[in-house]
Amino acid sequence: MQFGLTDEQQMIVDTVRDFVEREIYPLEAEIETLGHVPKEIGDDLRRKVLEIGFYAPNFPEAVGGGGLNHLDFALLERELGRGSMALTHFWGRPQNILMACAGEQRERYLLPAVRGEKMDALAMTEPGAGSDVRGMQCSARRVGGDWVVNGTKHFISGADHADFVIVFVATGEDQTPKGPKKRITAFLVDRGTPGFEIAPGYESVSHRGYKNCILRFEDCRLPDAQVLGDVDGGFAVMNEWLYATRITVATMSVGRARRVFDMALAHAAEREQFGQKIGRFQGVGFQIADMITEIDAADWLTLASAWRLDQGLPANREIASAKLYASEMLARVTDAALQIHGGMGLMNDLPIERFWRDARVERIWDGTSEIQRHIISREMLRPLGA
Ligand SMILES: Cc1cc2nc3c(=O)[nH]c(=O)nc-3n(C[C@H](O)[C@H](O)[C@H](O)COP(=O)(O)OP(=O)(O)OC[C@H]3O[C@@H](n4cnc5c(N)ncnc54)[C@H](O)[C@@H]3O)c2cc1C
Repeated sequence: MQFGLTDEQQMIVDTVRDFVEREIYPLEAEIETLGHVPKEIGDDLRRKVLEIGFYAPNFPEAVGGGGLNHLDFALLERELGRGSMALTHFWGRPQNILMACAGEQRERYLLPAVRGEKMDALAMTEPGAGSDVRGMQCSARRVGGDWVVNGTKHFISGADHADFVIVFVATGEDQTPKGPKKRITAFLVDRGTPGFEIAPGYESVSHRGYKNCILRFEDCRLPDAQVLGDVDGGFAVMNEWLYATRITVATMSVGRARRVFDMALAHAAEREQFGQKIGRFQGVGFQIADMITEIDAADWLTLASAWRLDQGLPANREIASAKLYASEMLARVTDAALQIHGGMGLMNDLPIERFWRDARVERIWDGTSEIQRHIISREMLRPLGA
């Protein structure tokens, strides 16, 4: 076993951290107040990331990406996790699922996404179908050789800046011994397609400025050329490409937790009450001890799950454990950091209350904590026949 970073990995960590501290931190308070990222700020960040050659690091070099493996990409995402998500969104990491593009889809979607010319979003969730993806109502039916899509998606992150959206739609239903089961197909849908509307979504307490949108389809006509992967093969594409997003949530949670921890540590070492540094009170010092222990545990759990993927080892359970533990760790760490800051922790002069709010969504998106526990328990119990 080897726990240290290679020179190349250290370079990745240093480059990203430097960029986040220099380019992202100074903009965070403004974006938090504005509640959105103006186009010129997003474009400027994207240009700078392209200039340093770090755009689309998660794509193979053969299509113009950075060619990072899962472990190196997790190290990069960990550093991005320190910064505001609304802003780091423009450090383009297009959805890996675009590797399923075939034929001319590569020229129209995959390559422009990797070059930073087009931005994507991914839409699965609906008002009536969250954890239960197969419960989706958004459907497409065959009409004269095309697909006609009707339905609504909501909570779709980054769709406000997206040029196209990867949308999962029900394209049929099978009868199974357990009841009817929907067949799902993924479609590539361009902004501006007739019958397709990207509308503003809800205001979230977490990650202000990282907008979520509502997508409406009303008799939206799509040719076969817009199908990503196979017809009725949406779950296959999802399973092949979407598992890695849970590592992203985990590793970004670790990065953010380290930033918050550093602030709490510094405050505990500086702030005096009753004539001494508050860190010397065991009640505060022990919180510091628990925070750093949990951060390290989440970090290693996450990096190990990424490493397993790179080795071609089964990693479903490990990734679920990493997502579950790291997101719940972040909630505890941000809460403790706020407590250590006392009343000032709640005030928007400091970013602590923002980290505390931002942490909340990590236990919900990309599969709630309960769904991760479901995955973990099934993986452990199923081999025993339970
Ligand atoms: C800010 C934000 C951005 C998002 N961005 C996107 C996006 O870009 N694209 C996209 O497709 N989706 C996105 N989502 C959706 C996100 O993935 C869902 O919110 C999540 O999967 C949960 O679905 P739900 O909110 O409908 O909750 P529900 O599924 O209704 O769950 C409600 C509660 O029931 C529990 N529950 C449900 N089923 C079970 C079970 N089997 N066992 C135990 N407990 C269960 C859940 O854990 C939860 O506590 C986003 C969500 C948010 C909040």
